[in-house]
Amino acid sequence: MSSTNRLKELRDQIDPINLEILELLNKRAEIALEIGKVQQEMGTRFYDPQREAEMLNALQYANEGPFSNETISKLFNEVFRATLNLEEQDARQTILVQRKSPDQHTIIEFSNGLRLGNDSFELIAGPCAVESYEQMDEVAAVLAARGVKMIRGMGYKPRTSPYDFQGMGEEGLKIARRVANKYGLVVISEVLDLSLIPMMDEYVDAFWVGARNMQNSFLLRALGKQSKPVLLKRSFGATLKEYIYAAEYIMSGGNHQVILMERGIRTFSEWTRNTLDISAVPLLKQETHLPVIVDISHSAGRRDIANPLGRVARVSGADGLMVEVHPNPDVAMSDAKQQLNLDQFNQLMDDIESITLGDKQPAV
Ligand code: PEP
Ligand code: MN
Repeated sequence: MSSTNRLKELRDQIDPINLEILELLNKRAEIALEIGKVQQEMGTRFYDPQREAEMLNALQYANEGPFSNETISKLFNEVFRATLNLEEQDARQTILVQRKSPDQHTIIEFSNGLRLGNDSFELIAGPCAVESYEQMDEVAAVLAARGVKMIRGMGYKPRTSPYDFQGMGEEGLKIARRVANKYGLVVISEVLDLSLIPMMDEYVDAFWVGARNMQNSFLLRALGKQSKPVLLKRSFGATLKEYIYAAEYIMSGGNHQVILMERGIRTFSEWTRNTLDISAVPLLKQETHLPVIVDISHSAGRRDIANPLGRVARVSGADGLMVEVHPNPDVAMSDAKQQLNLDQFNQLMDDIESITLGDKQPAV
C-alpha cells in the first residue's frame, strides 16, 4: 500500500473516533448537569476538588499510554473546567436576578412618580451626609427645580476612621424626611445594620446598602423580607458574579425591588479614589433585569472629573446616575473632595440634558 493510501486509511480511522469522543464528552456533560441539579438541591458547591482528585487518580491508574499521566491529567482538567462552567451557567439560569429574556426589565416605582428601570435616565443626588436642616433644604430646592426625584438622606456614615463624623443618626433621617416632603422628593438612606431597619422604615422610601456591606448576608436577607426597594452598591472588591449573588440574597427573600449601583473598584490607579468600571453597566444590564445606576462621586473621589463621568454614565446604557451635592463642599463633614456645589450640579444637569442619543440609544 502506498504511503498516501496508508495515510488516508489511518485518517479514516481517526474521524469516527473524534465523533465518538465528541459524543462521549457531551454525554458526560449532560450527566454533569444532572449532578449539578442534585448539588443545587443539596446546597453544595459544584467544585469538588476531592472528587476531581479521585477521578484523576483512577484515570492515571488505568492509563496504559502512549499518553503520559501528566498529559492525561491536563486533558481531563480541561474537561473538568469546561464542565464546571457549564454547571455554573445552567445554575445562573435559575437565579432570580438573571435576565431570562431581552424584554425582561424590572421597573421600580415610587410614590412621587419616580420610575427606575424604564427608558428614562434618572438622578439620585444629595449630600454625602445630612448635616443640618438648612443644608438639606438648600440642596433639595435645587434638585427639585432640576427634576430630580430622589434625595440622599444619609443619617449613618460608614467611615474609614471611627473618629470621623459618623452621621446625625435618626435626627438626620427626620430632617431628610421633612425636606423631602416639602419638595415632593423620595428619600433613600444607607442602612448599616439590620437592627436599624424598623426605625429607618419610619422615614425612608428606599434602603441603601453601601459597598462595605454588600456581602453582609444577614442584612441582605433582612432587607429581602421587607417591602421597600433596596439599592445595593457593588463592593470595591467584588466580582460581578459575587455582586449579582448578593442581589440574589435580597430577591430570594421575596423582595424583587432591587437597584444596582456601580461605584468603582479598587485598582492600582492612584489619581482616583477608585476606578469606575463602566463595563459593569452593559454587563449587569445583559445579565440581570434590574435597574443599574452609576455613582460618579465615590468612583472617582474628585469633583473635577464628575462631569465627564456623568456624561459617560448617560451614554452607557445605565438607568441613571448618583452624585453627591452639597451647598458648600469644602466644609462638608465627609467626602469634601468629591461633592459638587450647586452651580456644578446645575452645570452637570445642563450637560447631561444636552446629550441626544437619537438612534444611538444603548441596545440593552
Ligand atoms: C455612599 O454612597 O454614601 C457611600 C458611602 O459609598 P460607598 O458605600 O460606595 O463607599
Ligand atoms: Mn460619600
